[in-house]
Amino acid sequence: MSDKKTRFIVVAGSIMSGLGKGIVTASISKLLSTRGYKVIPIKFDGYLNVDCGTMNPFRHGEVFVLDDGTEVDMDFGTYERFLNFSIDGSSSITGGKLFQKIIEKERKGDYLGRDVQFVPHLTNEIKNWVRDVGAKNSADVVIIEVGGTVGDLENGYFLEAMRQLQFEEENVLFVQLTYLPSLFEGEQKTKPTQQATRLLQSLGIQPHIILAREQESLSDEARKKISLYCNVREEAVFDDPLLKTIYELPLILEKQNFYDMISDKLALDKKRAAELAEWKTLVEKITSPKNEKLEIAIVGKYTSVKDAYISVKEALVHSAAAIDYGLEITWIEASNLEKLSNIGEALGKFDGILVPGGFGERGIEGKISAIRYARENKVPYLGLCLGLQLMVVEYARHICKLQDANSTEFNKKTTYPVIDILPEQRAITKLGGTMRLGSWECDIKSKTIASKAYNGAHCFERHRHRYEVNPEFMDQLSKSGLTFSGVYPSKHGDIVEIAEWPANFGFGVATQAHIELKSRLEAPAPLAVEFMKAAVAYRKIREPKLEITKR
Ligand code: GLN
Repeated sequence: MSDKKTRFIVVAGSIMSGLGKGIVTASISKLLSTRGYKVIPIKFDGYLNVDCGTMNPFRHGEVFVLDDGTEVDMDFGTYERFLNFSIDGSSSITGGKLFQKIIEKERKGDYLGRDVQFVPHLTNEIKNWVRDVGAKNSADVVIIEVGGTVGDLENGYFLEAMRQLQFEEENVLFVQLTYLPSLFEGEQKTKPTQQATRLLQSLGIQPHIILAREQESLSDEARKKISLYCNVREEAVFDDPLLKTIYELPLILEKQNFYDMISDKLALDKKRAAELAEWKTLVEKITSPKNEKLEIAIVGKYTSVKDAYISVKEALVHSAAAIDYGLEITWIEASNLEKLSNIGEALGKFDGILVPGGFGERGIEGKISAIRYARENKVPYLGLCLGLQLMVVEYARHICKLQDANSTEFNKKTTYPVIDILPEQRAITKLGGTMRLGSWECDIKSKTIASKAYNGAHCFERHRHRYEVNPEFMDQLSKSGLTFSGVYPSKHGDIVEIAEWPANFGFGVATQAHIELKSRLEAPAPLAVEFMKAAVAYRKIREPKLEITKR
């Protein structure tokens, strides 16, 4: 525990969801961390789920996993991608966790005969939680993103706790994110913002800063109006314009002297300069890369809801920036591939094919066909989690000639269960039942794609899955050329972490881990970078072919 003074920033959304509160929270955090302050983000989600493990990515977007195995909202991915450090599960507060805690305490008799109330019991629990996270991490600043929008029933009690916090702590800053619709001839309308601020004020909270999101950039007139009606100084109204990439936002806020504005209120050192030069260079590599676009196909199941694969997409953005290439991702619905007689029509134009993680049977055969196509045509392939399992299934079926080889997730009666639930997996009683979750160690074999990528003999990556490569088939698969270049040395024997095609098959690597979850703009996922480099090499030999077809 430290007695260092912790400051608090509360970021609340208004008007509508989807305005990018997570990006704002991450960007403000970046402005502070780049000045040497220890910042810890907290996200509050009002839903009654204890964690995100049971949520359908089709409805809620990706389930993000932290090192300690906590399954959290995808905003944590944004925080880590901006901040380049790992956050622990105590930063995720949900309605479910709070109520679970309160009810457990009540059952134990901790409230000594009192009736248990939202105020003070629940609100005290919340304030203690955010203070504890600050103290445990010796944070200079705890930044709290309040999920949902002001006025939601679900986050009302949380905002009440934040209102109380500002009277108990010295330095608490409220940031309101708002949206300005433009009607006819681009006039930016501020009335929704005025009303949203009034709603926040009616809860006893006056925002110190308003960030206005709009389609272009904030007009002077709109800024003046917001200032006048919302009780916020003009310099405290900031522009959150439409950007080419989300990673630009810290630079845009820095340009508007956002830090100067908050440093007074939070008693921070105004003179501390930001170190954003490297960040700026990386952003420029995304917005105007030196080299042409690499065309990558992601063959998945939730492709109509891209948030389901947000970390995969961002990992590709990071790795393309690392090699200064542009990027064009095409989302391909796997089940559509099953209907094609010539899969090359759908996949022929890509420099690389990626199969991400997933659960359930739909689209599985389409993904296997895509992997086969990549292997037979030497298109670089990257498989993530399910993408590894299906790479093994494809290899078993077509190279080892184990005809109906499958994962028991999809065919319980297969003669060759090359992917299966291991007995020790069934015994895992960590969060999420039988899932292997969180960060696990991997031993890497030398002279492989993996050893080149990680430049060493070990790595730690995050997991979220039940099934594994069945150790009974490892020997047969390796004898047929599949290299198991990374394994987790469990006490029951090696468990496959990374697999690679033989070099003469072209570039193909897949991992049981979700390497995308630890990819950050400043530290891209090493295997994704290798994949992109392979895509560049393949594009060079593929391009003349394209020329011929064009003529
Ligand atoms: N469904 C597979 C499993 O549970 C893969 C999971 C994933 O891709 N995250 O093992």
